[in-house]
Amino acid sequence: MLMDGTAVAHRILEQAVADAAALTAATGVTPTLATVLVGSDPASVTYVRMKQNRSAKAGIGSRHVELPETATTAELVTTLTELSQDPDVHGILLQHPVPSHIDERAAFEAIAPEKDVDGVTMHSFAAMAFGEPGFASATPGGIMRLLDAHSVDLAGKHAVVVGRSPILGKPVGMLLLARDATVTYCHSKTADLASYTRQADILVAAVGRPRFLTGEAVKPGAIVIDAGYNPGNVGDVDFDSAVQKASLITPVPGGVGPMTIAVLLEQTVAAAKGQVGRK
Ligand code: NAP
Repeated sequence: MLMDGTAVAHRILEQAVADAAALTAATGVTPTLATVLVGSDPASVTYVRMKQNRSAKAGIGSRHVELPETATTAELVTTLTELSQDPDVHGILLQHPVPSHIDERAAFEAIAPEKDVDGVTMHSFAAMAFGEPGFASATPGGIMRLLDAHSVDLAGKHAVVVGRSPILGKPVGMLLLARDATVTYCHSKTADLASYTRQADILVAAVGRPRFLTGEAVKPGAIVIDAGYNPGNVGDVDFDSAVQKASLITPVPGGVGPMTIAVLLEQTVAAAKGQVGRK
């Protein structure tokens, strides 16, 4: 059975549209998301454009800042600090990855926690890990919503996450742990990867390698979440072989990707509500 991220995301966005409209009607404030892009990597340009288009459709304002490929860490930090202080901006998204000469962690940390709607700061990560209020990392948050939409019972299940990046692998494992799954992280140094993945009741692929996990790596009846998104719209799971084994599986595209944007926009509206409420 396919996990239809497009349909679930649509429902989340409908609610976000209604919430944004209600906030604007009550206060005159339009929830606004600032997107920041450094350089002109074609994939990043496309992702940012998609986020802006979806924002516009949801009645969410957008502000866009582009910095050249040659921008320094200090310049990017200044831009993000200014947006963090701008009362007309409620959420900030720094498109990942930034050029390699930039200290991405320093840049992320310049985002005010209350505007960190992509959940990339250490503050947001710690809040998530401690089960305190805060913004979830958008893709992991989207994965959890997709599991919930399919009524997947996580307690006591063995979840194997392949990948441990700060924006995807690590946080999705923390969120699964918080829901009482038993979590194993695998990564590039894991010996005999398949011996772990074949034990997974829930297998999350967050590797960044096209069709890396094949049906051979999947336990019969497993739930397979493919967070990968590689050139040519290809996931990290070899769908055709994995679908033979899985009980539930996300397609690429149309699985995790739309959920990420929906959670980002939902969190932007929540951020605006929080900031208006505090004034
Ligand atoms: P990343 O930062 O490059 O991390 C990749 C992870 O995979 C690392 O932890 C790495 O291990 C692990 N890995 C690499 N080769 C491996 C191997 N041979 N065996 C086991 N593990 C291996 O990537 P990311 O940012 O997490 O993104 C992962 C994928 O998700 C990409 O396809 C990306 O496009 C996609 N993504 C999608 C969305 C969305 O909205 N749908 C959002 C974000 C990312 P080490 O830590 O040991 O290096």
